[in-house]
Amino acid sequence: MRIVLLGPPGAGKGSVALLCKTRLRLPHLSTGQIFREEMAKRSPLGRRVGAYVTGGRLVPDALVTRVMVNRLTSKPHRAFVLDGFPRTQGQAAGLDRALERLRLPLHGAVYITSPEALLVRRLSGRLVCSTCGANYHARTMRPKRPGVCDRCHGALATRKDDRIETIRRRLAIDRRTSKPLLAYYQRRKALYRVDGRGRIETVFVRARRLFHRQGWI
Ligand code: AMP
Repeated sequence: MRIVLLGPPGAGKGSVALLCKTRLRLPHLSTGQIFREEMAKRSPLGRRVGAYVTGGRLVPDALVTRVMVNRLTSKPHRAFVLDGFPRTQGQAAGLDRALERLRLPLHGAVYITSPEALLVRRLSGRLVCSTCGANYHARTMRPKRPGVCDRCHGALATRKDDRIETIRRRLAIDRRTSKPLLAYYQRRKALYRVDGRGRIETVFVRARRLFHRQGWI
């Protein structure tokens, strides 16, 4: 199965992608996680994207597309789940061109929908493992030991871009960019919606049902 996960920040893309990896053994690539790792290493790429990421602004299309296409072509997978990419119509077109060259077309774009109040609640309490990227929540999805990841024992931290002003900016940017992005996949008859309300397990079950229905897994 080759899919992209779409949806506003806080919709659950990262958590669903991680469950696709652990339960369905599907490789996943997350642009946000790649950028945060490069920033922690202070690599040239990390330094270029740092201000955009901490400010909650989108990294320019040409740069994001180059990074992701390089990752996809340097080690082509027959199956993958992309999380956080594409985020604009330009990125989606760049991805399609690269996948055509690899003869690995996408099966679909899965859009996880959520009301905005829920997104703000999720993002404002979010804790992320700095080692494996697993997500927790300070009120609704606490780790067994405070500050420690249940899966890999890595340290949990609040992302710098999960501050309330930055959350609002990210949601506003998403409202602007997602319309043409969704229209792009709709035109290709490749857009599928999954209800993102409720616990992440429930959202994953809904997504998995869609994958089965479509014959992708
Ligand atoms: P995420 O972890 O998906 O919420 O991404 C965190 C941040 O990384 C975003 O707020 C952007 O600054 C940057 N980013 C991630 N994916 C993209 C993308 N596809 N296009 C542009 N910027 C991105």
